[in-house]
Amino acid sequence: MRKITIMIPAYNEEDVLQQLYDRLSKVILNIPFYDFELLFGNDGSTDGTLDQIKKLREKDKKISYVNLSRNFGKETAMIAGLDYALGDAVIIIDADLQDPPELIPDMIRYWEMGYDDVFAKRKSRAGESWVKKTTASTFYKVLQKLTQIPIQKNTGDFRLLDRRCVEALKQLRETQRYTKGMFSWIGYNKKEILFDRDPRAAGETKWNYIKLVDLAIEGITSFTTTPLRISALFGCVISFFAFVYILWIIAKTLLFGESVAGYPSLMTVILFLGGIQLISLGIIGEYLGRIFNETKNRPLYFVDEYNNEKVQNVSRKSSKNIVHLER
Ligand code: UDP
Ligand code: MG
Repeated sequence: MRKITIMIPAYNEEDVLQQLYDRLSKVILNIPFYDFELLFGNDGSTDGTLDQIKKLREKDKKISYVNLSRNFGKETAMIAGLDYALGDAVIIIDADLQDPPELIPDMIRYWEMGYDDVFAKRKSRAGESWVKKTTASTFYKVLQKLTQIPIQKNTGDFRLLDRRCVEALKQLRETQRYTKGMFSWIGYNKKEILFDRDPRAAGETKWNYIKLVDLAIEGITSFTTTPLRISALFGCVISFFAFVYILWIIAKTLLFGESVAGYPSLMTVILFLGGIQLISLGIIGEYLGRIFNETKNRPLYFVDEYNNEKVQNVSRKSSKNIVHLER
């Protein structure tokens, strides 16, 4: 029997966990040919989420969990989940039931047909504000213009990944993760299925606009160096016009003599160039910051416990827990 892991990143989700478990169980019950694992990635929840997972685990052997030592963010919780998943395929699903579990049989069907990455694409986004929808769609457009790899629009992290994809993703160990881009970047055989995104079943969204802007910058800077190139090009164009202007001033002075006037134009040029330089420096700083973060080569997360066992986070190569992970 093939094993399928359903991986659920959860951060302060005590209000929906029972509902999620009930709906997932109902779906799984109708797919008897597989050995399912429900793996919760508890991302440092401060409410009763962990206790609830433990309680569920006592009753249901299918449940396992990995408890991170603090809140690392969804992107990191997902890679931790992929590291610990034991299945031949992994399905990533949000805890808040915005991704309908009823899509899982379809995903598995396509997986059996040979697809490696079956992702769910939103036809609609119920319960999301007009502003969020427009900013999201603008962001996708900009990102797609800037980068060469195709990024799937209106697609979240709700998808089935074959073991091959999971192993590929596990090798991308960068700290500032933009997982949606990574799914595209690794390639493999992709298949989309459409669905209507429901509003959150209970609890509150953990995203706010600052976090979304962060993720947008992450998306752009981790998948393309185009902003660097644009700033360089912009600098060239500006310098060219500045040079022409200088020639004109010299010619004018030689022909008509020196004039004291010119303070306004001088100020304009200085301020304008100053602005351009600041923009370029900002962009360079953005990439420099990323290099700084990557050179630290830190582990992406620490695990507090895995299925009731305390985990020693020893260094990667010698780690017993990694031997387990590479199984
Ligand atoms: N999540 C997480 N760590 C975080 C924030 C969120 O693991 O720091 C999980 C959360 O529990 C949920 C999923 O990521 O299962 C999506 O979060 P949310 O529903 O708040 O985001 P939205 O759907 O509003 O984009
Ligand atoms: Mg949600």
